[in-house]
Amino acid sequence: MRTIELNKRQEQIVEIVKDRGPITGEQIAEKLSLTRATLRPDLAILTMAGFLDARPRVGYFYTGKTGAQLLTEKVGKLTVKDYQSIPVVVSESASVYDAICTMFLEDVGTLFVVNGSSYLAGVLSRKDLLRASMGKQDLESIPVSIIMTRMPNITTCQPTDLLLDVAQTLISKQIDGMPVINNTEVDGEAKMEVVGRLTKTNITKVFVDIANNKIV
Ligand code: ADP
Repeated sequence: MRTIELNKRQEQIVEIVKDRGPITGEQIAEKLSLTRATLRPDLAILTMAGFLDARPRVGYFYTGKTGAQLLTEKVGKLTVKDYQSIPVVVSESASVYDAICTMFLEDVGTLFVVNGSSYLAGVLSRKDLLRASMGKQDLESIPVSIIMTRMPNITTCQPTDLLLDVAQTLISKQIDGMPVINNTEVDGEAKMEVVGRLTKTNITKVFVDIANNKIV
């Protein structure tokens, strides 16, 4: 994984290219009194990270982008599949009691309710289950299908969606997470197969990765 923080030599290279670009690797090496081979990894890093552009037979150019701009560009390209977690699901026929047990055992805050196989039918949050527990009903006899938020009122995302868009949706809809789905068709009927879970925790991980220079 490449860090966006540059070491001293990489900073020197950027300065040289800024002043003298387009400039060949050979010429940069000469200025730093180093061999071309020594510089190769640094040039590769700077090009990959987007600070420099390389053109065959011309040399290296400075792209004019700051570390912050490049980071913003990279964060803007992250997708759901880079950060999604494994979904935790319960069947539509499961009881509220079963769902509470699953939530504790699996240590998640949102459960997805599926019918038949793994097709999305509903969502259960912590508060949905708490609300159902406030009455005096027998929790083992209430199916989750009665209390869940159901289709088509579920906000979903797909593996290729941009993480930034999903984060924006989590905020605007005031929800903790959403199922990651694959749209499929079964016997001519549109279905949503649950393939992942994307929550505020996943978004928090992006924040930590940025601070630790782990965004490629
Ligand atoms: P909590 O209610 O435990 O704080 P949320 O804020 O995620 O958790 O959920 C608020 C309400 O929105 C709940 O009734 C829940 O069923 C519903 N909900 C949660 N996630 C979604 C989603 N992805 N799409 C639609 N509704 C959702």
